[in-house]
Amino acid sequence: MMTKDRVALITGSGQGLGRAIALTFAREGSKIAINDIALNEKKALETVEELRAIGVEAEAFLADVTQEGEVGAMVEQVLERFGRIDILVNNAGINRDGLIHKGDLKNWSAVLGVNLTGPFICTKAVLPSMRQNKYGRIINISSLTARMGIFGTGYYATSKSGLIGLTKVTAAENVVKGITCNALAPGYIKTDMMVKYPEEQLQALIAKIPVGRLAEPSEIAEAAVFLAADSSSYITGAVLDINGGYLI
Ligand code: NAD
Repeated sequence: MMTKDRVALITGSGQGLGRAIALTFAREGSKIAINDIALNEKKALETVEELRAIGVEAEAFLADVTQEGEVGAMVEQVLERFGRIDILVNNAGINRDGLIHKGDLKNWSAVLGVNLTGPFICTKAVLPSMRQNKYGRIINISSLTARMGIFGTGYYATSKSGLIGLTKVTAAENVVKGITCNALAPGYIKTDMMVKYPEEQLQALIAKIPVGRLAEPSEIAEAAVFLAADSSSYITGAVLDINGGYLI
Protein backbone atom coordinates (compact mmCIF):
# COMPACT_ATOMS: atom_id res chain seq x y z
CA MET A 1 0.00 0.00 0.00
CA MET A 2 1.57 3.25 -1.17
CA THR A 3 -0.07 5.69 1.26
CA LYS A 4 -0.87 3.40 4.19
CA ASP A 5 -2.22 5.19 7.29
CA ARG A 6 -1.61 8.59 5.71
CA VAL A 7 -4.32 11.23 6.14
CA ALA A 8 -5.31 12.85 2.85
CA LEU A 9 -7.36 16.04 2.45
CA ILE A 10 -8.68 16.34 -1.09
CA THR A 11 -10.46 19.52 -2.13
CA GLY A 12 -13.49 19.35 -4.43
CA SER A 13 -13.71 15.59 -3.92
CA GLY A 14 -17.47 15.03 -3.86
CA GLN A 15 -17.36 14.11 -7.55
CA GLY A 16 -15.17 13.77 -10.63
CA LEU A 17 -11.41 13.55 -10.41
CA GLY A 18 -11.32 14.44 -6.70
CA ARG A 19 -13.64 11.56 -5.90
CA ALA A 20 -11.50 9.16 -7.98
CA ILE A 21 -8.39 10.38 -6.12
CA ALA A 22 -10.15 9.79 -2.78
CA LEU A 23 -11.11 6.22 -3.75
CA THR A 24 -7.63 5.46 -5.06
CA PHE A 25 -5.89 6.83 -1.95
CA ALA A 26 -8.34 4.86 0.19
CA ARG A 27 -7.44 1.62 -1.60
CA GLU A 28 -3.80 2.45 -0.83
CA GLY A 29 -4.57 2.57 2.90
CA SER A 30 -5.20 6.29 3.52
CA LYS A 31 -7.74 7.95 5.79
CA ILE A 32 -9.73 10.45 3.78
CA ALA A 33 -10.99 13.98 4.42
CA ILE A 34 -13.44 14.85 1.67
CA ASN A 35 -13.93 18.55 0.98
CA ASP A 36 -16.51 20.24 -1.19
CA ILE A 37 -18.74 23.31 -1.23
CA ALA A 38 -22.06 23.28 0.66
CA LEU A 39 -23.89 23.21 -2.70
CA ASN A 40 -22.35 19.79 -3.35
CA GLU A 41 -22.94 18.38 0.14
CA LYS A 42 -25.03 15.46 -1.12
CA LYS A 43 -22.25 14.15 -3.35
CA ALA A 44 -19.62 14.71 -0.65
CA LEU A 45 -21.67 12.61 1.79
CA GLU A 46 -22.27 9.91 -0.85
CA THR A 47 -18.51 9.69 -1.41
CA VAL A 48 -17.93 9.35 2.34
CA GLU A 49 -20.53 6.57 2.50
CA GLU A 50 -18.85 4.75 -0.39
CA LEU A 51 -15.48 4.97 1.38
CA ARG A 52 -16.89 3.79 4.72
CA ALA A 53 -18.58 0.87 2.95
CA ILE A 54 -15.14 -0.45 2.02
CA GLY A 55 -13.91 0.00 5.60
CA VAL A 56 -12.08 3.30 5.14
CA GLU A 57 -12.05 6.07 7.76
CA ALA A 58 -13.59 9.06 6.01
CA GLU A 59 -15.37 12.30 6.84
CA ALA A 60 -16.78 15.22 4.83
CA PHE A 61 -15.76 18.82 5.54
CA LEU A 62 -17.71 21.50 3.71
CA ALA A 63 -15.74 24.64 2.88
CA ASP A 64 -15.30 26.99 -0.05
CA VAL A 65 -11.58 26.98 -0.85
CA THR A 66 -11.69 30.69 -1.74
CA GLN A 67 -12.71 31.62 1.83
CA GLU A 68 -9.75 31.73 4.19
CA GLY A 69 -11.94 31.54 7.32
CA GLU A 70 -13.79 28.44 6.08
CA VAL A 71 -10.54 26.73 5.06
CA GLY A 72 -8.91 27.55 8.41
CA ALA A 73 -11.87 26.04 10.28
CA MET A 74 -11.84 22.96 8.00
CA VAL A 75 -8.13 22.31 8.57
CA GLU A 76 -8.63 22.61 12.34
CA GLN A 77 -11.54 20.12 12.16
CA VAL A 78 -9.54 17.65 10.05
CA LEU A 79 -6.62 17.85 12.49
CA GLU A 80 -9.01 17.30 15.40
CA ARG A 81 -10.67 14.31 13.67
CA PHE A 82 -7.58 12.57 12.24
CA GLY A 83 -4.68 14.01 14.28
CA ARG A 84 -2.63 15.05 11.25
CA ILE A 85 -2.73 15.94 7.57
CA ASP A 86 -0.06 14.16 5.53
CA ILE A 87 -1.37 14.79 2.03
CA LEU A 88 -3.17 17.77 0.50
CA VAL A 89 -4.55 17.50 -3.02
CA ASN A 90 -5.58 20.89 -4.39
CA ASN A 91 -8.15 19.52 -6.81
CA ALA A 92 -11.18 21.86 -6.57
CA GLY A 93 -11.54 23.75 -9.81
CA ILE A 94 -13.94 25.45 -12.18
CA ASN A 95 -13.80 26.34 -15.86
CA ARG A 96 -15.24 29.24 -17.85
CA ASP A 97 -14.21 29.62 -21.48
CA GLY A 98 -13.88 33.04 -23.08
CA LEU A 99 -11.73 34.98 -25.52
CA ILE A 100 -9.29 37.45 -24.00
CA HIS A 101 -10.32 40.33 -26.28
CA LYS A 102 -13.91 39.88 -25.09
CA GLY A 103 -12.74 39.14 -21.54
CA ASP A 104 -15.15 39.24 -18.65
CA LEU A 105 -13.60 40.29 -15.35
CA LYS A 106 -16.25 38.40 -13.33
CA ASN A 107 -15.32 35.10 -15.01
CA TRP A 108 -11.61 35.87 -14.73
CA SER A 109 -11.95 36.52 -10.97
CA ALA A 110 -14.13 33.46 -10.40
CA VAL A 111 -11.72 31.09 -12.17
CA LEU A 112 -8.56 32.62 -10.65
CA GLY A 113 -10.28 32.55 -7.25
CA VAL A 114 -11.09 28.84 -7.14
CA ASN A 115 -8.18 27.50 -9.23
CA LEU A 116 -5.31 29.62 -7.89
CA THR A 117 -6.24 31.58 -4.76
CA GLY A 118 -7.95 28.43 -3.39
CA PRO A 119 -4.78 26.28 -3.56
CA PHE A 120 -2.77 29.14 -2.03
CA ILE A 121 -5.21 29.40 0.90
CA CYS A 122 -5.34 25.62 1.43
CA THR A 123 -1.56 25.20 1.14
CA LYS A 124 -0.94 28.03 3.59
CA ALA A 125 -3.45 26.46 6.02
CA VAL A 126 -1.91 22.96 6.07
CA LEU A 127 1.77 23.94 6.00
CA PRO A 128 2.22 24.82 9.71
CA SER A 129 1.23 21.31 10.86
CA MET A 130 3.10 19.60 8.00
CA ARG A 131 6.23 21.61 8.82
CA GLN A 132 5.88 20.67 12.48
CA ASN A 133 5.49 16.98 11.54
CA LYS A 134 8.41 17.27 9.09
CA TYR A 135 6.31 15.39 6.53
CA GLY A 136 3.96 16.42 3.76
CA ARG A 137 2.86 15.71 0.22
CA ILE A 138 1.09 18.50 -1.67
CA ILE A 139 -0.29 17.73 -5.11
CA ASN A 140 -1.75 20.48 -7.27
CA ILE A 141 -4.06 19.64 -10.14
CA SER A 142 -2.92 21.88 -12.97
CA SER A 143 -3.80 21.23 -16.62
CA LEU A 144 -2.58 20.69 -20.17
CA THR A 145 -3.87 24.23 -20.80
CA ALA A 146 -0.97 25.56 -18.70
CA ARG A 147 1.48 23.95 -21.14
CA MET A 148 0.18 25.34 -24.45
CA GLY A 149 -1.96 28.19 -25.73
CA ILE A 150 -5.36 26.62 -26.33
CA PHE A 151 -8.00 28.88 -27.93
CA GLY A 152 -10.58 30.27 -25.52
CA THR A 153 -8.92 29.06 -22.31
CA GLY A 154 -7.50 32.42 -21.13
CA TYR A 155 -8.90 32.45 -17.60
CA TYR A 156 -8.44 28.76 -16.96
CA ALA A 157 -4.96 28.44 -18.53
CA THR A 158 -3.74 31.47 -16.58
CA SER A 159 -4.99 30.00 -13.31
CA LYS A 160 -3.41 26.61 -14.03
CA SER A 161 -0.09 28.22 -15.10
CA GLY A 162 -0.05 30.23 -11.87
CA LEU A 163 -0.60 26.98 -10.01
CA ILE A 164 2.65 25.63 -11.46
CA GLY A 165 4.42 28.70 -10.03
CA LEU A 166 2.82 28.06 -6.64
CA THR A 167 3.92 24.41 -6.88
CA LYS A 168 7.56 25.26 -7.51
CA VAL A 169 7.84 27.91 -4.79
CA THR A 170 6.03 25.72 -2.24
CA ALA A 171 8.47 22.94 -3.13
CA ALA A 172 11.52 25.21 -2.76
CA GLU A 173 10.42 26.70 0.56
CA ASN A 174 9.49 23.42 2.26
CA VAL A 175 11.91 20.80 0.98
CA VAL A 176 14.02 21.00 4.15
CA LYS A 177 10.93 20.16 6.21
CA GLY A 178 10.30 16.83 4.48
CA ILE A 179 7.48 18.26 2.36
CA THR A 180 7.23 17.74 -1.38
CA CYS A 181 4.97 19.69 -3.72
CA ASN A 182 4.27 18.58 -7.28
CA ALA A 183 1.69 19.23 -9.97
CA LEU A 184 -0.21 17.02 -12.37
CA ALA A 185 -1.05 18.50 -15.76
CA PRO A 186 -3.85 16.30 -17.09
CA GLY A 187 -5.28 16.54 -20.57
CA TYR A 188 -8.99 15.92 -21.06
CA ILE A 189 -10.66 13.73 -18.41
CA LYS A 190 -14.06 12.05 -18.50
CA THR A 191 -15.77 14.13 -15.76
CA ASP A 192 -18.69 16.57 -15.58
CA MET A 193 -16.29 19.38 -16.55
CA MET A 194 -15.79 17.76 -19.98
CA VAL A 195 -19.01 15.91 -20.65
CA LYS A 196 -20.87 19.24 -20.46
CA TYR A 197 -19.40 20.05 -23.89
CA PRO A 198 -21.69 19.49 -26.92
CA GLU A 199 -21.14 16.02 -28.42
CA GLU A 200 -19.83 17.36 -31.74
CA GLN A 201 -17.23 19.56 -29.98
CA LEU A 202 -16.23 16.64 -27.76
CA GLN A 203 -15.71 14.30 -30.73
CA ALA A 204 -13.60 16.94 -32.53
CA LEU A 205 -11.46 17.21 -29.41
CA ILE A 206 -11.08 13.45 -29.01
CA ALA A 207 -9.94 13.26 -32.65
CA LYS A 208 -6.90 15.35 -31.63
CA ILE A 209 -5.87 13.00 -28.79
CA PRO A 210 -3.41 10.35 -30.09
CA VAL A 211 -4.64 7.76 -27.56
CA GLY A 212 -8.10 8.28 -29.10
CA ARG A 213 -10.19 8.88 -25.97
CA LEU A 214 -10.61 11.00 -22.86
CA ALA A 215 -8.69 9.94 -19.73
CA GLU A 216 -10.50 7.93 -17.08
CA PRO A 217 -10.36 9.80 -13.73
CA SER A 218 -8.64 6.75 -12.20
CA GLU A 219 -5.74 7.12 -14.65
CA ILE A 220 -4.96 10.55 -13.20
CA ALA A 221 -5.64 9.39 -9.63
CA GLU A 222 -2.95 6.67 -9.92
CA ALA A 223 -0.37 9.36 -10.70
CA ALA A 224 -1.47 11.36 -7.65
CA VAL A 225 -0.92 8.29 -5.45
CA PHE A 226 2.54 7.81 -6.94
CA LEU A 227 3.51 11.40 -6.04
CA ALA A 228 2.01 11.02 -2.56
CA ALA A 229 3.89 7.82 -1.72
CA ASP A 230 6.63 7.85 0.93
CA SER A 231 8.95 6.48 -1.77
CA SER A 232 8.53 9.65 -3.90
CA SER A 233 10.47 11.82 -1.44
CA TYR A 234 13.05 12.80 -4.10
CA ILE A 235 10.42 14.21 -6.50
CA THR A 236 9.55 17.81 -5.76
CA GLY A 237 8.70 20.89 -7.83
CA ALA A 238 7.87 18.64 -10.78
CA VAL A 239 5.01 18.82 -13.25
CA LEU A 240 3.78 15.50 -14.62
CA ASP A 241 2.03 15.67 -18.00
CA ILE A 242 -0.73 13.09 -18.50
CA ASN A 243 -2.49 13.82 -21.78
CA GLY A 244 -2.70 10.73 -23.99
CA GLY A 245 0.00 12.12 -26.28
CA TYR A 246 -1.78 15.43 -26.99
CA LEU A 247 1.43 17.31 -26.13
CA ILE A 248 4.66 15.46 -26.84
P1 NAD B 1 -15.78 18.63 -11.60
O1 NAD B 1 -16.50 19.87 -11.98
O2 NAD B 1 -16.43 17.31 -11.82
O3 NAD B 1 -15.35 18.70 -10.05
C1 NAD B 1 -14.89 19.87 -9.44
C2 NAD B 1 -15.20 19.79 -7.97
O4 NAD B 1 -14.71 20.98 -7.32
C3 NAD B 1 -16.70 19.72 -7.66
O5 NAD B 1 -16.94 18.74 -6.68
C4 NAD B 1 -17.02 21.12 -7.16
O6 NAD B 1 -18.16 21.20 -6.31
C5 NAD B 1 -15.72 21.46 -6.44
N1 NAD B 1 -15.56 22.89 -6.21
C6 NAD B 1 -15.82 23.90 -7.09
N2 NAD B 1 -15.59 25.09 -6.51
C7 NAD B 1 -15.18 24.82 -5.24
C8 NAD B 1 -14.81 25.64 -4.15
N3 NAD B 1 -14.81 26.98 -4.25
N4 NAD B 1 -14.44 25.05 -2.98
C9 NAD B 1 -14.44 23.69 -2.87
N5 NAD B 1 -14.80 22.87 -3.88
C10 NAD B 1 -15.16 23.44 -5.05
O7 NAD B 1 -14.39 18.72 -12.38
P2 NAD B 1 -13.17 17.71 -12.47
O8 NAD B 1 -12.93 17.44 -13.89
O9 NAD B 1 -13.31 16.59 -11.51
O10 NAD B 1 -12.00 18.70 -11.99
C11 NAD B 1 -11.11 18.40 -10.92
C12 NAD B 1 -9.83 19.17 -11.15
O11 NAD B 1 -9.18 18.67 -12.35
C13 NAD B 1 -10.03 20.67 -11.41
O12 NAD B 1 -9.00 21.40 -10.79
C14 NAD B 1 -9.90 20.78 -12.90
O13 NAD B 1 -9.51 22.07 -13.31
C15 NAD B 1 -8.82 19.74 -13.17
N6 NAD B 1 -8.73 19.26 -14.54
C16 NAD B 1 -9.82 18.72 -15.16
C17 NAD B 1 -9.71 18.28 -16.47
C18 NAD B 1 -10.86 17.65 -17.20
O14 NAD B 1 -10.73 17.42 -18.40
N7 NAD B 1 -11.96 17.33 -16.55
C19 NAD B 1 -8.48 18.39 -17.14
C20 NAD B 1 -7.38 18.94 -16.48
C21 NAD B 1 -7.52 19.37 -15.16
